[in-house]
Amino acid sequence: MATSPICTYGNPALRRHSKRIGAVTDELRALADRMLGMMYTAEGIGLAAEQIGHTEAIFVLDVPAHADLDGQGRPNNPGATMPQAFINPEIIGASEETATADEGCLSFPGLYTPVTRSAEVVVRFLDRAGHEQVLNAKGLLARAIQHELDHLNGVLLVDHMSPVAKLKHALLFRKFRKENRVEK
Ligand SMILES: [Zn+2]
Repeated sequence: MATSPICTYGNPALRRHSKRIGAVTDELRALADRMLGMMYTAEGIGLAAEQIGHTEAIFVLDVPAHADLDGQGRPNNPGATMPQAFINPEIIGASEETATADEGCLSFPGLYTPVTRSAEVVVRFLDRAGHEQVLNAKGLLARAIQHELDHLNGVLLVDHMSPVAKLKHALLFRKFRKENRVEK
């Protein structure tokens, strides 16, 4: 069986904090392209460098517009360019309003759990050309940005789970512990 290059729960690489990137180089752009390739292969919509054993502060996203609609069926983020690499991302604004929805993660295959996050965020980052961008995001894109930023800070889906949800998924975690090195 082919093994995925994406680290799964229990791998200590997932708990590391990312390091700010000094300059956007061809090497970094190549990393972003590799990450996008792995993300598409795994059928995900986002991937952070920590998930493939890197510590650069970068994540990639491709949130399909058709999957990111408001209550009236209109795109939540009509101007958002996808796919996009977010380099040295920082959230500089977040709504008080929150939203709760099921969330998955390529590092937790098969696990979906409700997570409450800010409904809207403003993120500042460098794009793959090294230009500063500020993006206002809501809906699924806002959720995905917050999820991937968590990875850059060593925070994982499991940290957002309620004790009840953890119990519900106890069998799954037992499986993870068997298949991977356990983190205490
Ligand atoms: Zn994830």
